Amino acid sequence: MSHLVTLRGSGLSFAAAHFATFGGDCEPLHGHNYRLTVEIAGGLTDDSWVIDFREAKTLVRSICRELDHKFLLQENSRFLRVSLVADEYEITFGSRRYVMPKGDVAALPIDNSTAERLAEWLAARIAAALSAAGAANLSSVRVGVEEAPGQAGWSTLESNPAAAGPD
Ligand SMILES: [Zn+2]
Repeated sequence: MSHLVTLRGSGLSFAAAHFATFGGDCEPLHGHNYRLTVEIAGGLTDDSWVIDFREAKTLVRSICRELDHKFLLQENSRFLRVSLVADEYEITFGSRRYVMPKGDVAALPIDNSTAERLAEWLAARIAAALSAAGAANLSSVRVGVEEAPGQAGWSTLESNPAAAGPD
């Protein structure tokens, strides 16, 4: 049997700029107030919980802070040319050229800064952080990234399907 907890609300959000590519084209630079929903599934601990809400929220908030007030850079883009020289990112797409201080950029190992890929990256980061914090009972982490009300991309990471015990 598997149980599920969901996290949403205060601090599980970040404001960031980006441009996604699509069909060989590229959006203009813009931003979103991204909001997360995190669903964590797993077996129950001896205390009959999947995860301590407070601990999980603290951890997700700290990951959100890494992205807050940054430019979200899809480092593995097939369409953007990205180089890091002397602590500045140079990003070019056709005749467009952006130079940004490294500190203003969240460089992510993704091919595009879509809500779906951001959700995938966040699910992996959250699962790794929960695991590092000692949570061995979790079977999956699912993240929804809402770009705007009613508009979200989701991704599920089956972190350890065997963890959902027979309880
Ligand atoms: Zn956007």
